[in-house]
Amino acid sequence: MPFSKLGLSDPLLRAIAEAGYSAPSPIQLQAIPAVLKGHDLLAAAQTGTGKTAGFALPILHRLSLKSYSSNRPVRVLILTPTRELAAQVGESVGKYGAHLHPRLKTEVVFGGVKINPQMMRLRGGVDVLVATPGRLLDLANQNAVKLDKVETLVLDEADRMLDMGFIRDIRKIIALLPKKRQNLLFSATFSEDIRKLTTGLLVNPVKIEVAPRNTAAEMIEQTAFLCNKANKTELLCHLIKSNNWQQVLVFTTTKHGANRLTEKLNKVDIKAAAIHGNKSQGARTGALAGFKAGEIRVLVATDVAARGIDIALLPHVVNFELPRSPADYVHRIGRTGRAGEEGQAVSLISHDEVSALRLIEKLIGVPIKREQIVDFEASEVAPPVPLEPPRAQRPGNNARHTRKPAGNQTTNKARPRGAV
Ligand code: AMP
Repeated sequence: MPFSKLGLSDPLLRAIAEAGYSAPSPIQLQAIPAVLKGHDLLAAAQTGTGKTAGFALPILHRLSLKSYSSNRPVRVLILTPTRELAAQVGESVGKYGAHLHPRLKTEVVFGGVKINPQMMRLRGGVDVLVATPGRLLDLANQNAVKLDKVETLVLDEADRMLDMGFIRDIRKIIALLPKKRQNLLFSATFSEDIRKLTTGLLVNPVKIEVAPRNTAAEMIEQTAFLCNKANKTELLCHLIKSNNWQQVLVFTTTKHGANRLTEKLNKVDIKAAAIHGNKSQGARTGALAGFKAGEIRVLVATDVAARGIDIALLPHVVNFELPRSPADYVHRIGRTGRAGEEGQAVSLISHDEVSALRLIEKLIGVPIKREQIVDFEASEVAPPVPLEPPRAQRPGNNARHTRKPAGNQTTNKARPRGAV
């Protein structure tokens, strides 16, 4: 079905055409008609599914049907877990609404930057406000924004907001909204906490699930390279160089680890930048822009900072270390394999991470194939397995580019693939 059959107005169809979208994605096909009708929505969808347009287009359509009152109260409130996602959603809303007359005003507010300029920008009123919960509450507490005319509330990446401890802030914000309103909730995973939140929030929601819950996208080729912890950096450099990867998102568990890895990559002429919570907003935006423009080859990120990064067709995601929770693995690899392109998710697994890898496989329901790269094989043995005698002599450099399955630990028949 084409976009033109979904009931969206001409100015929105023009913006869709300019964005280069030829047909609605599955979530858009389901979400747009439901939101246009004014229903509440409960959507299981990850970043990369086109969910932003799925809610932004019908919201803009509905907003533009009604005239604005002179003081422009906030009519649509979109809450996101991170500043990056807030900025990207704000950008998308601006893009999709570019041809509406009169123009709708969209503002984005988030923490970590000065509050006063945000207060000034809100003074003239806004139609659509995209915000992270903490900063929005600060603004509301200082009377810089009123939320009593909100018609539609969107909770984007609700699971992440709960993971980040925003539940109390969200509940306080909801208390400031009119009782009667439309509620849209998007989440990649559905924990007990999310269910509790939705129970009080959504009224007869239309339920949409575009990818099976907690399941890694089918388009993503997942590989675990078993190696020693101490060799991970060298192995990563080898993979990047020998495969000529040009745009790689690498996840580390700590900010310190992200900094250290970035330094090491730059030392061997692999241009890298780190993006994490200790970096200023300017540094993060700069790193992301450089990465998108192809000036930075490797973006090293922690989970929280990477949330909401939207880079179309990101080809390679590397787990330098496995995330603390298996659900985070799904979020991480959801960054690749977008828009019909095959993506590659690689995990560097040291002996102490093998059990975490098994938990991930249990969650996603498919085995991840294990491989080893000659010269970077895992020789460390996980306790309590008794120490083995030293492995056979390593092959020489001529075998350096050879990849081999990880012995009897291989759980998936490797499909035929080119040389590394
Ligand atoms: P999202 O899941 O909202 O983060 O969107 C992921 C990416 O898909 C963004 O780069 C969008 O610009 C793009 N996108 C959204 N809808 C479509 C569509 N119907 N066709 C092609 N690309 C799309």
